[in-house]
Amino acid sequence: MKHNFGAGPCILPQQVFKEAANAVLDFNGLSLLEISHRSPSFVDVMEEAQSLVKEALNVPNGYTVLFLQGGASLAFTISALNMMRDKKKAGYINTGTWAKGAINEAKAVGIDVNVFASSEDKNFNYIPKNIVIPNDVDFIHYTSNNTIFGTQFQKTIETELPLVCDMSSDIFSKKIDISKYDLIYAGAQKNLGPAGTTLYIVKDTILGKSSSDFMPKYLNLKNHVDKGSMLNTPPVFSIYTSMLNLRDLIKNGGVEAAGERNNAKAELLYHEIDSNPLFNAAVQGEDRSKMNVTFLMNDESNKDKFDKAWNDAGIVGLKGHRSVGGYRASMYNALTIDSVKVLTEVMNEFTRKNG
Ligand SMILES: *Cc1c(COP(=O)(O)O)cnc(C)c1O
Repeated sequence: MKHNFGAGPCILPQQVFKEAANAVLDFNGLSLLEISHRSPSFVDVMEEAQSLVKEALNVPNGYTVLFLQGGASLAFTISALNMMRDKKKAGYINTGTWAKGAINEAKAVGIDVNVFASSEDKNFNYIPKNIVIPNDVDFIHYTSNNTIFGTQFQKTIETELPLVCDMSSDIFSKKIDISKYDLIYAGAQKNLGPAGTTLYIVKDTILGKSSSDFMPKYLNLKNHVDKGSMLNTPPVFSIYTSMLNLRDLIKNGGVEAAGERNNAKAELLYHEIDSNPLFNAAVQGEDRSKMNVTFLMNDESNKDKFDKAWNDAGIVGLKGHRSVGGYRASMYNALTIDSVKVLTEVMNEFTRKNG
């Protein structure tokens, strides 16, 4: 048995993989991959996936759920283009690689970006505090969970301005108040489903108000909302599998129960890291991500031995991102606490033998 701590594409429940595989072979007599996306059976899938997102996150009236393509990377561009108003200015928080990606794409479409808070001075190992939000901007953008550096905003940014959030790596991991946001986007492959679709939760009042002269049809969210997320051929496999995963999430108590399970997993692993003399957490205190736990070995000369120990235990995907080094344990919804126990036991035993 393998324990997948990979940062994404993510682990999903085994049952979801099985049902998805079955649908590839037989979905009402044809393969899911060969039916028309306009057929009633796929339209049902799209509608159920959208309504499960609304149910899971308690999305209020006045919002539309879309499943588009292009990943969160294209959402950097789409969000900037659709939220741009007459000021052509926006406020962005820079908490790492993905936030920077969003900043660069906003600049690329002609927005004057005010990076009003940043944690770059300490290689993004904290969440900026005492943030003063600018008021001469069209919208505010931040990244709720920083997948690479292992930091996470524990609260929504409070602002009267339109609020945009990249929730790629912590959406569905806990309860959130959707009504505080104007636009949320998330690449599916971190905590929702397979790569190929990108979830957008769009407040309908933002639609059709962009001040951008450049607005290709596919990048205008209004066109997707008007067509029920079927402007062009949607990524059917990714949407179907995401739907299965949402069914599973709701069956198991929804985001509230998932949040409790994720808290327990994070507590267990951070406790081991903090109490183990051979390891150090890369992030301290309340800024720690419950999804992606980054940690370092105090004495790297033991690295090969430790790497062998966790590999032998069936753990995969623990290698840290090159911009932090060390290790990163990604603990998305489908990772069980038993898998986390396997990791903490490996760490514990390694220290008993080598400490
Ligand atoms: C992975 C990730 C992205 C990039 O997602 P793609 O779908 O690969 O474009 C953006 N933001 C965050 C927070 C991520 O974790």
